Amino acid sequence: MKVLCFGSLNIDYVYKVNHVVRPGETEKSEEVSVNCGGKGLNQSVALARAGMAVSHAGMVGKDGKLLLDQCAENGIGTQYLRMIEGRCGHTIIQVDNEGNNSILLYGGANQCMTRDFIDEVLGGFEKNDVILLQNEINLLHVIIDKAYAKGMQIYLNPSPYNEALEKCDLRKVSCFLLNEIEGEQMTGETAPEKILAAMHERYPSADIVLTLGKDGSLYLDEHGMVRQEAFPVKAVDTTAAGDTFTGYFLYARSTGMTAKNGLELASKAAALAVTRPGAMDSIPAMEEVICHSWEEDAL
Ligand code: ADP
Repeated sequence: MKVLCFGSLNIDYVYKVNHVVRPGETEKSEEVSVNCGGKGLNQSVALARAGMAVSHAGMVGKDGKLLLDQCAENGIGTQYLRMIEGRCGHTIIQVDNEGNNSILLYGGANQCMTRDFIDEVLGGFEKNDVILLQNEINLLHVIIDKAYAKGMQIYLNPSPYNEALEKCDLRKVSCFLLNEIEGEQMTGETAPEKILAAMHERYPSADIVLTLGKDGSLYLDEHGMVRQEAFPVKAVDTTAAGDTFTGYFLYARSTGMTAKNGLELASKAAALAVTRPGAMDSIPAMEEVICHSWEEDAL
């Protein structure tokens, strides 16, 4: 069984500023960091660091060498990555002294998927292979339809939630992985149990994973509900917690672990990720997750 993550690759340019620039103003910045990201790439990295042989499908622009290098360094299969004319998907992020930020997102190559490219990629996969998707590339509805027609197992992190998801036939999804905000956007409910119930009613054959930040996570399938507490850690930066959780949970499920054991493993990996600054850099390797002594961290 093969695993494919078909999704975004982004370059984040993070500028330190005294204050977030206002219209008509020029503001100096003396510190910039350039980071690889995108939910798609973060989740591929989490899968790879968990030990899964994963290929990433997507597009980068002419400035995308560092994203391709990042994939290769993490052992992610790059045969379904294409470099096209134009710029990579990227963000320009200003962060002021108080930690306030403003984010400009340019879709770039992430918005350049074509039907031919999708056919070419999915041509390498078969029934029961796994495809992991998020909502940061165009033609998501086409990818879902074509992957389903092949009999692939579709894991979807419906993030960010927007009208593009309304075009998708979500009854074709095998497993949803979402946080409380996306859960509310999809169902109109706010209580976790009600979100799960509403998702289950709408998509009865899908497994549902709902993450609740420091309050842990819930899972529901036709056999019932499983609850997992978060592992108590001192949170430094929760960016990429969800992506880490998604990668590790998918690893667990596709290697035959139960949902309960999968939630536990994913929660450990995500807890370690929140103890470290940064997004992709904070995603732990399996060895660290297994070897970590959790008792020491109890607050
Ligand atoms: P997202 O990053 O998508 O918003 P969540 O905030 O729900 O996702 O976090 C995903 C998972 O990461 C949680 O279910 C939990 O296991 C873990 N996690 C998040 N925040 C913390 C925290 N402060 N302490 C421990 N674990 C956390």
